[in-house]
Amino acid sequence: MRKKINPFDLPIFVTRPLLPKLSVFNARLSEIWGKQWLTNNGTQHIALEKAIKKYLHVPEVSLFNNGTIALMTACQSLRLSGDVITTPFTFAATPHVLSWNNIQPIFCDIEPATLTIDAEKIESMITPRTTAILAVHVFGNPCNVYKIQEIADRYGLKVIYDCAHAFGTEILSSPNEKIKKLVGIGNFGDISMFSFHATKLFHCAEGGALSFNDKNLKDRIDLLKNFGIKNENEVVMPGINGKLNEIQAALGLVVLDLVSEERNKRKKILNTYEECLKDVPGISFFKLNSDVINSYQYFVIRINSKVFGLSRDEVYNEFKKFNVFTRKYFYPLCSEYTCYRQLSSSSKNNLPIANIAADEVLSMPFYGSLKLSYVEKICSILLNMKH
Ligand SMILES: *Cc1c(COP(=O)(O)O)cnc(C)c1O
Repeated sequence: MRKKINPFDLPIFVTRPLLPKLSVFNARLSEIWGKQWLTNNGTQHIALEKAIKKYLHVPEVSLFNNGTIALMTACQSLRLSGDVITTPFTFAATPHVLSWNNIQPIFCDIEPATLTIDAEKIESMITPRTTAILAVHVFGNPCNVYKIQEIADRYGLKVIYDCAHAFGTEILSSPNEKIKKLVGIGNFGDISMFSFHATKLFHCAEGGALSFNDKNLKDRIDLLKNFGIKNENEVVMPGINGKLNEIQAALGLVVLDLVSEERNKRKKILNTYEECLKDVPGISFFKLNSDVINSYQYFVIRINSKVFGLSRDEVYNEFKKFNVFTRKYFYPLCSEYTCYRQLSSSSKNNLPIANIAADEVLSMPFYGSLKLSYVEKICSILLNMKH
């Protein structure tokens, strides 16, 4: 029998930005006002770059005004051209940065268990035009980085990771089970991109970063993000304005101090969701390998409509009646956008797993200040829909 559940009084959204006490932020703003230095590698920027390097356990970092410009610059810095193999199951920015670099995205299908690019299928999509693989650790689920690197090495391809969902993720350094060493996710491939957008776990309202191992890349990337200006007399390449300003950097520094507590809270929320939903036929969620440190960026469920009895879209609409606003990440697939639909790699036959996933995923409310009793109520609403 259907229980009577009242809607939430106030809307529950999928996320809420992590915000410091205003007084803490104001103290940093006072420093900036004192120095009268607002952008171009000021003290806040220098401090944040150092702090991010440490947090992510990566050798080199370059900060950006957003993740999309960072990814655009990553493609430029590696001089990519032709075709790049990527995933259709991602945010619009991923294929768009390729288009903005005059590169054609080639969509490869994804793995059913992680929804990341299916490394086993990459090889069959490589042609003489292919210059790189752009893979996404979607929802913080790590790609098969070892296999991807092995393929890239064999064909002389560059590898870029979109780590927008994977801030703080750590995985084993090698597929060899005997070596149990954890490393930051930003250490794989040639370059990794992180987004510091307000909806991401760590943010500076808008912002982003690239991480990489090659010290020589640091000079090139920093030139590219500042118009290619080397000094007062020399402009050495056609760069862009990708700089993160002092106010963004200051916000980043104070938000970074809150991240570990936020992760602990999200861990409890995740456990509560999993406990409430673990035995529900037709509802599944991602189980990370116990060797992996989770980013706690999203909590995503998959709804098998035949088994559950309602489709993902029905669940999404039903939730709205209770003032719960879930998101269909990632629907539609990038391969269904009008700008990419005509590509031969966009055909549904080429992307069967991605097409199923796009109809089944639902991103649930997930942020530290979400009360556990609310999480339980959200789960009750979902279970009650079946009757
Ligand atoms: C957020 C996001 C981006 C873009 O980041 P911005 O900082 O908003 O430009 C890129 N890729 C994925 C997968 C994202 O979720």
